[in-house]
Amino acid sequence: EVKQKGRDGWHFFNDSLEQKVRQRLSVTQGLRLAIERNELSPRFQPIVCADSGRIVGAELLLRWFPQDGEISPAIFIPIAEMTGAIVALGLWVFRQACLAESAWRQRWRDSAPSYISVNVSARQLNEESLADDFSRILRETGADPRRILLEITETSLMADIDTNLRILRRLADLGMRVAVDDFGTGYSSLAQLTRLPVNVLKIDRAFVDGIDTQSENRAVNRAIVGLARALGLKLVAEGVENIEQLLELRALGCDYVQGYLFHRPLDEQSFIGRFSRELEEQSVAAAEPPLFF
Ligand code: C2E
Ligand code: MG
Ligand code: MG
Ligand code: MG
Repeated sequence: EVKQKGRDGWHFFNDSLEQKVRQRLSVTQGLRLAIERNELSPRFQPIVCADSGRIVGAELLLRWFPQDGEISPAIFIPIAEMTGAIVALGLWVFRQACLAESAWRQRWRDSAPSYISVNVSARQLNEESLADDFSRILRETGADPRRILLEITETSLMADIDTNLRILRRLADLGMRVAVDDFGTGYSSLAQLTRLPVNVLKIDRAFVDGIDTQSENRAVNRAIVGLARALGLKLVAEGVENIEQLLELRALGCDYVQGYLFHRPLDEQSFIGRFSRELEEQSVAAAEPPLFF
């Protein structure tokens, strides 16, 4: 029953659809003010060496805390993409990544994490001014572009390959690196992948999940490891939650992992504390800092 007589008139939606429409509307309105209301906050999830567990980099993940709680990026990012709000949000996020890169390199010098990665939506790649805006923000913050990794999902990369190729070349010319996020969930052709200036593949969590129990997932991961090798790309596995998954990934030759087994996304102070402690422990062992790039 689509049409229903309610106390305050006719309802054309069942409750859940109506709720979704309401939610979308309030998210849209709320997002418009989120930046100036200081409701956004970056989290940094460490990315570690699969062998040593040492931190090589971090992914910036956006968090939104409106007055009445927290809304997940899985909900507000797609809405922001639909409404175009992602363009302003994306610039804010990119600035946060650059500020962190700059501050961490001043704090830790040569021992600083090798890179910070930041998610970039397809919608942002369609903005003609993106490269100029990123370039300006890099300059203003003093961030080292070679230590910024731009994560773009496989699906959005392949959706408009010619436009993306042009814009990615400009971003790569600025010195930044590019990762294919959620790799394995879209449909890359090898020919297209080799045309793009890509440095890193991130294996989607869906394939890491069950890698220890499902032989198809293991086969997919093995194929991705082989592909990364053949193309000379770095490989990161996402969503590693248990030791069995880690052992499988190690055995396949995946060098870097990210997941709750090691670290959850951390606020910047916690990240700084955790990384500092790691450096202190290592200075005892006098080990070289692990490099990603
Ligand atoms: P993503 O870029 O693929 O990020 C990885 C997601 O997996 C994050 O979810 C992270 O918290 C989660 N994760 C990491 N390790 C584990 C694990 O061991 N187990 C499980 N179950 N999950 C794990 P999050 O932070 O909720 O973000 C969801 C998605 O929202 C991201 O997926 C990304 O596509 C998007 N997103 C987040 N921040 C931004 C942003 O600043 N800009 C854009 N454009 N998208 C963003
Ligand atoms: Mg990502
Ligand atoms: Mg991902
Ligand atoms: Mg994802």
